[in-house]
Amino acid sequence: MKRTLIAIALTFLAGNAFAAHGKLNVVTTTTDLASIAREIGGDFVDVTAVARGYQDPHFVEPKPSFLLLLKSADLLAVIGLDLEIGWLPPLIDQSRNGKIRLGSPGYLDVSRGVEILDRPSGAVNRSMGDVHPMGNPHYWLDPANAVRIGIQVERKLAELQPANAADFARRLNDFKQRMNEADQRWRAMLAPYKGAKIVTYHNSWPNFMRRYGLNVVDYVEPKPGVPPSPSHLFQLIQKIKDQKVKVIVMEPYFDHKTPQSVAERTGAKLIVLYPSVGGAKSGTDDYFQLFDTNIANLIEALQ
Ligand SMILES: [Zn+2]
Repeated sequence: MKRTLIAIALTFLAGNAFAAHGKLNVVTTTTDLASIAREIGGDFVDVTAVARGYQDPHFVEPKPSFLLLLKSADLLAVIGLDLEIGWLPPLIDQSRNGKIRLGSPGYLDVSRGVEILDRPSGAVNRSMGDVHPMGNPHYWLDPANAVRIGIQVERKLAELQPANAADFARRLNDFKQRMNEADQRWRAMLAPYKGAKIVTYHNSWPNFMRRYGLNVVDYVEPKPGVPPSPSHLFQLIQKIKDQKVKVIVMEPYFDHKTPQSVAERTGAKLIVLYPSVGGAKSGTDDYFQLFDTNIANLIEALQ
């Protein structure tokens, strides 16, 4: 009995000593999660994102390098709501890393602690190609949800590396404060455009547009993940004309030909907004810059 206790104590001390000095290896599926994890983890973590910010996060082509990342991860943070369902589960399996399996302490699905829009009211229905069957997975595009993600990351890092818990808590507080200040600035900048009507290519922006009082009236895609049909485009063009929609927003990973032709036929302006950190070559290096750049682009188009 005594010997077991000593063994447990030694293991515990060894674990803590390692935690205090070794860096936690954090892997996130997206660059936005990586940016927030860096804010909270600081120098105590190494953070790498699997997907690039200029890729459609629904459809990431797996590469051998992804497996190497996952093999050495202490923590895997995911967006969830089926966003990564097309590419992540086989990678987790093949990594054979027990720490990051679903249900393990090193697996963190941050969708559990954020506000989700477009939740299905009835049974989940994946037919018809809708890639948002569990609700809208682009929830990170709202500073309030960025803070909620930060809170979950802070709790998880403190659990995995208790020796640095006070530092994570301090960094979270600092992040909250800077996020709040930036959000107030962004609100003030967009206030003159309250209620402006917008069409977006994919349904990536409901959290963002609601936060800043903008009104998405339709999408180029008839359903998330489904390419536009001629009949849908015909109706869309009518709607843009009838409702005098000024701006069509597209994500950087779609072909611009279709939205460009809709823009030409209606007089609306086509612009690119970046849904993720690293979506553009410059000006999207972290979560704050991403919003600065998107909001500047949006205001230029709405003026
Ligand atoms: Zn989507």
